[in-house]
Amino acid sequence: MPKQNSFYDVLSAAIRDVADHGYDSAARIAYWQEEIRKAAERTMSPPHVMERMLREALAAVYRRMVEKGQIVNLHPGVARFTLERVKPQLRAELDRRILASADLIKLNRKQAIEKTLQRFAGWSTSIPKGGSDAVDKRETKDEIRKSLASLPFQDRRVLIDQGHKLTAAISQTIAEGGGAIAGIWHSNWKQPGYDYREDHKERDGQVYTLRGNWAQDRGLMKVGDAGYYDEITAVGQEPFCRCRMTWLYHLRQLPDDMITAKGRGELADIRVAS
Ligand SMILES: [Zn+2]
Repeated sequence: MPKQNSFYDVLSAAIRDVADHGYDSAARIAYWQEEIRKAAERTMSPPHVMERMLREALAAVYRRMVEKGQIVNLHPGVARFTLERVKPQLRAELDRRILASADLIKLNRKQAIEKTLQRFAGWSTSIPKGGSDAVDKRETKDEIRKSLASLPFQDRRVLIDQGHKLTAAISQTIAEGGGAIAGIWHSNWKQPGYDYREDHKERDGQVYTLRGNWAQDRGLMKVGDAGYYDEITAVGQEPFCRCRMTWLYHLRQLPDDMITAKGRGELADIRVAS
């Protein structure tokens, strides 16, 4: 196999050629666009390598949360067997996240290549026929390749975001499977440098009811001022949201104003009985 030129070499040759000849034919630009596309695709890891990398990264989140049990920190008061019972569903969430991440990363790559080709075409067609001595080749190169240069950073962002989404999905599956009645929203807005959403800051500390839960069915609790959890976007749903919920399973964990008279009666009975 002949040695294939690096993306950087191909782009340098393309810029040199267009700077020398200028925009004298569409064929010249089309030729270089094709060469640039092929070189860009060669720089990217093949899909099976990328998918293995994703699987490893998300499986690490899964291990930490589920197998090492860190997720329990978000579920004070959950019954121990709940986690075991919903494990098959949690595995399914992991697989779903791996696929979603792979799709996103492929899409980012495709867009980065398209943007690169567009920038190259935009620049080339501005060079007069006969070429130009005024081209700053280095600057042009940096400008044209900037989408591709930022891809590793974008890949990392996708992985981190998908890790948060996986954690949120695992957590919600446990909450629903374990009979949680409500959840408390936590925003990271106090963390220095964190780019929080204003409306998520307002949700910080609010208690959201899980609709149709057993305590509500039995008339022991009522919906608080914050309303139902299904009326708002869930934690981790919006891009790069790092908010989280802690889930409540017992009547006594609710704020007073969410417990009905009947609920208070029940709590008093429990206290007398124990
Ligand atoms: Zn958020």
